[in-house]
Amino acid sequence: MTRRPLIAANWKMHQTVPEALTFLDHLLADLSGDEEAEVVIAPPFTALEAVGRRLDGTSVQVAAQNVYWEDQGAFTGEVSPLMLKQLGCRYVIIGHSERRQLFGETDETVRRRLRAAGRHELTPILCVGETKEDREAGRTDDVITGQISRALEGLYPDPLRELVVAYEPVWAIGTGLTATVDQAQEAQAHLRLLLARITDKGLANRTRILYGGSVKPENILALMAMPDVDGALVGGASLSADSFTGIIHF
Ligand code: PEP
Repeated sequence: MTRRPLIAANWKMHQTVPEALTFLDHLLADLSGDEEAEVVIAPPFTALEAVGRRLDGTSVQVAAQNVYWEDQGAFTGEVSPLMLKQLGCRYVIIGHSERRQLFGETDETVRRRLRAAGRHELTPILCVGETKEDREAGRTDDVITGQISRALEGLYPDPLRELVVAYEPVWAIGTGLTATVDQAQEAQAHLRLLLARITDKGLANRTRILYGGSVKPENILALMAMPDVDGALVGGASLSADSFTGIIHF
C-alpha cells in the first residue's frame, strides 16, 4: 500500500501572529501545491485562526498542538475539539512528550483526548517514544507498546477511523541527536505490527507513522527511504521556512 508522506511542523510555543504570517508567505511562495508530501502546520492556539485563514484554499493543512476532551464547560484554560474543528483544524497532536513530561499527561488523558478528537473527526497525531534510560535498558519496544495499547484501549473501531502516529524518541527531541534510520525503522515497523494486532491490517497499513526527533533537511531523505517511515514531525527545523521547505521537498 502506498501511503502519502506527511510532513508536519510543530511550532510549540513559538511564532506570534505576525511571525506566523510572514513564515506562511515564505512557505507558500516555495510550494507548488502539488507536493508529494501532505504538509501540516501546528501553530500555537493563539495563531490558529490567523494561520487557518491564510491557509484556507491552499494545499497546507492545520493542526492544533493539543485538545481537551469535553466540548464545552467550566474548564479554564482549555480548548475543545469543537472549537478546533470550527477553526478549520484537520489534525491534532496528542500525547507529545513535552505534554507528558512537563504537564502531567498520562496514557489515560491521551486516550480521552483521542476519543474526543475522533468524535469530531479531527485526525490525531499520536506521539509515542522512549526515554534515553528506556533505550539503554532495552525497553524501547515495551514502552511504545504500552503507550500505544493503553492510548487506543476501547477506541477501535469507533471513533478511530483515521490515525497518524509519530514515533519520537524523547532523547532525540530538540537535542540534535537523531535516531539512526535502522532504529527508526525497527521501532516503526514494530508500531505497525502492533496497530494491526490492536485494530486491523487495513488501518495499520493506511496509518502514516512519522518519525520525530531532530529532523532536518540533511537527514530527511535517508529516513524517508525506510519502508515504515511515512513522514516527519518537525520541531526546531520547522521554524525557518527555508529548512522546513528543504524537508518537505526531500
Ligand atoms: C517535536 O517536538 O516534535 C520534535 C521532533 O522536535 P525537534 O524536531 O526539535 O527535535
